[in-house]
Amino acid sequence: MSSNKAPKNCVFYRNQNWIYPRIEKGEGIYLIGENGKKYIDGCSGSAVANIGHGNKEIAEFAKGHIERIAFTHLSRWTVDSIEKCAEKIVSWCPKGLNHVYFVSGGSEATETAMKMARQYYVERDGNKSSKWKIISKWNSYHGATLGSLSMTGTIGRRKIYDPLLTNFPKISQFYHYRNPWGARTLEETSILAAKELETEIQRHGSDNIAAFISEPVVGSAAPGSHPEKIYFDMVREICDKYDILFIMDEVMAGSGRTGKKMASNHFDAKPDIIVVAKGLSSGYTPIGAAVCSSEVFETIMVRGSGNFIHGHTYAGNPLSCGIANKVMEIIERDKFIENCAVQGNYLMKKLEDLYNYPIVGDIRGKGLMIGVEFVKDQETKEPFDVFSNVRGKITNNCLEEGLVPYPGGGSVDGVRGDHILLAPPINITKEEVDLLYEKLEKAIKKTSEELQG
Ligand code: PLP
Repeated sequence: MSSNKAPKNCVFYRNQNWIYPRIEKGEGIYLIGENGKKYIDGCSGSAVANIGHGNKEIAEFAKGHIERIAFTHLSRWTVDSIEKCAEKIVSWCPKGLNHVYFVSGGSEATETAMKMARQYYVERDGNKSSKWKIISKWNSYHGATLGSLSMTGTIGRRKIYDPLLTNFPKISQFYHYRNPWGARTLEETSILAAKELETEIQRHGSDNIAAFISEPVVGSAAPGSHPEKIYFDMVREICDKYDILFIMDEVMAGSGRTGKKMASNHFDAKPDIIVVAKGLSSGYTPIGAAVCSSEVFETIMVRGSGNFIHGHTYAGNPLSCGIANKVMEIIERDKFIENCAVQGNYLMKKLEDLYNYPIVGDIRGKGLMIGVEFVKDQETKEPFDVFSNVRGKITNNCLEEGLVPYPGGGSVDGVRGDHILLAPPINITKEEVDLLYEKLEKAIKKTSEELQG
């Protein structure tokens, strides 16, 4: 049964402009509807199901773990699966990030990073520290809780909650396609976007800023947008100059999604804290983490009070940690990250042909984290008005073809321009990429015709 109405008793189910079928099960890159129809999971849920659905090794591991132990509280006990997972995450992070704080998802992870940064300065400088603001960017998403939403720069997600608990300073995103400076090259956009950080720090006074947060490759707010390496070189330099911590939000882009273990590695970026979630456990159980440097850890835990004033009941859930560790082992053993880089390049090349459709404005991304943005006019980049419901039409036509994209933009997010995110499981094969492309092209062709008609 398919429905565009909220299922009974799903109290906060979002009333969408597209129709989602009820899913019976998943197999590899496919979701299978209860009517037997097969869909390519073209977005892994929301860049989550990195190793695909129905993995038997994970199922067996989970069963064994559940039979062995249900739960221990991280403040009193440790379990081998927690320790192994922490060690594995550290081995995936850029050098120097070596202390893991577990949580249950992305918003908790960004909240944790924010509190870690604030406590770091209190422990280092005493209670007189006024360093508490976090600079973030417009066209960004860092989570749904009021703290992480204060860092989020997607207007549609924020405005109903205004006034937020606090309104953090925002600078422009490295969203080259719609950059506000008229920059012609990605390098120019990268430099101008980084310069805004310094200006914003000076405006607020570095004594009032604890951290700057950025995604390495933008997720839902302007999917696939990324800067050149120089952006993160400049960010590091500016953060050092003004004594500010740099937080990298790898919730969506991390865990192998972009063809590197962490997307930071594309840019040789050197954050003080990285946050991960989503693909970390490939969606088999909820988990997230904030990973910090020795400087941050030791200032709080060794030279400071020895007590990070934070904590969630499910932090370090042994089963979630065990599954995340197993997922990372499988990804390494079966070389899925290498596959992601190869298939990502292959898909990107194929997607170039979509520019033949005048509604396709921009295609960008890294690995298998690719955004396609739709426009009314390719030349002027004029977006469709929100009533055209282009992302809804694209999504419905994709679903009809048997492909699940991740739609965004338009009226709900307040981002100019309808877009979809393509992020299939990173173990997708070349033949499956061909099939995904075929379905997407048909859906875009049909949507173009509908818009003309
Ligand atoms: N940060 C980024 C970059 C995200 O894409 C998301 C979710 O989409 C979050 C944080 C919040 O994660 P969660 O939805 O797991 O709370």
